[in-house]
Amino acid sequence: MERPISLDKPQREFWMSRLIRRAELAGSIGEVPVSALILDNNGRCIGYGSNTRQSKKEPLGHAELIAIRQASRIKGDWRFNNCTLLVTLEPCTMCAGALTQVRMGQVIFGAHDPKRGGLGGTIDLSKHQSSHHKMIIKGGIMENKTKDQLQSWFKQQRQRSAEKKGVQIQAS
Ligand SMILES: [Zn+2]
Repeated sequence: MERPISLDKPQREFWMSRLIRRAELAGSIGEVPVSALILDNNGRCIGYGSNTRQSKKEPLGHAELIAIRQASRIKGDWRFNNCTLLVTLEPCTMCAGALTQVRMGQVIFGAHDPKRGGLGGTIDLSKHQSSHHKMIIKGGIMENKTKDQLQSWFKQQRQRSAEKKGVQIQAS
């Protein structure tokens, strides 16, 4: 069985920086700024995704699932044992479940998510007894940058909705 590619720190940060820029674009159109991509065992990017829940009204439109769908079309396979998924935020429980289902070889994420994370934040589905697949997991890559990006986006959203409410109160 081929192994997923091993990435050193500069390589991990190279891809994470690209994802942060992509996430910024998603954030600018009202999506939670999260982006994911998938590398094959040669380090070639075969799938990319950002959140599309708002823009496409897609209830399960998380970055990871979109990247998996795209990569599976390119691979012509549903198994990802020799692939690596990189994402700016720790996958939620839904995505962590999907990652074990598709047997993702390696997952590298940015910010930890103590509220919703499915790879250690709330539960570690990769180590759960329902998971018969061993994933290599590395979290906290460019943790400060990825965390700041999310926090400032949520802050901005709160300010916007507060401003809207202010306008409504003035109008009535
Ligand atoms: Zn998710």
